[in-house]
Amino acid sequence: MNNQAWIDLIRDIPDFPTPGVVFKDITPLIGSPGGFAAVVHDLATKVPADIDVVVGMEARGFIFGAPVALSLGTGFVPVRKPGKLPGEVITTEYELEYGTNSLSVHRDAIPDGSRVLIVDDVLATGGTIAATARLIKELGATLVAVAVVLELDFLKGRQFLSEQGIEDVIALT
Ligand code: 5GP
Repeated sequence: MNNQAWIDLIRDIPDFPTPGVVFKDITPLIGSPGGFAAVVHDLATKVPADIDVVVGMEARGFIFGAPVALSLGTGFVPVRKPGKLPGEVITTEYELEYGTNSLSVHRDAIPDGSRVLIVDDVLATGGTIAATARLIKELGATLVAVAVVLELDFLKGRQFLSEQGIEDVIALT
């Protein structure tokens, strides 16, 4: 399946999760054998080659991050909401429009000095990726690049990430 064909499998759901928001629903894309394979292929071929670890965030970052890790021949590290990981974790908080969210990772998940790729489905405001980048830095690893399936340009997440020193952001669409 070519690039344009899989993009058409992402559908807009108006007023989800709250009125006025148009949610990009990736479930038809991952439910399509050809579409899922094509998007994972496109992610894996556009990222830098010298990656040691792929990090994906709960929950949709797992869906795309794990097959990208397999394709690159690396391990996969889950970043999760608090209370989900069984071992010793480090945690960071980030701001939402209303309130805050937290993300955790196992303290021993990423060897010191590793070259890390973050994979997620959507870049919106950039808060989730920036928080994950802080965890990676705290573990002594290097964030090499960020890859997402879809970027919501109007939310200016790329600009926010650039202000945090995160420049290498690859968005397929
Ligand atoms: P951010 O932190 O950049 O504002 O939001 C990105 C996170 O929220 C991602 O982990 C993503 O899964 C989720 N997200 C935000 N908006 C959407 C959307 O329209 N569609 C999907 N699939 N995920 C979204």
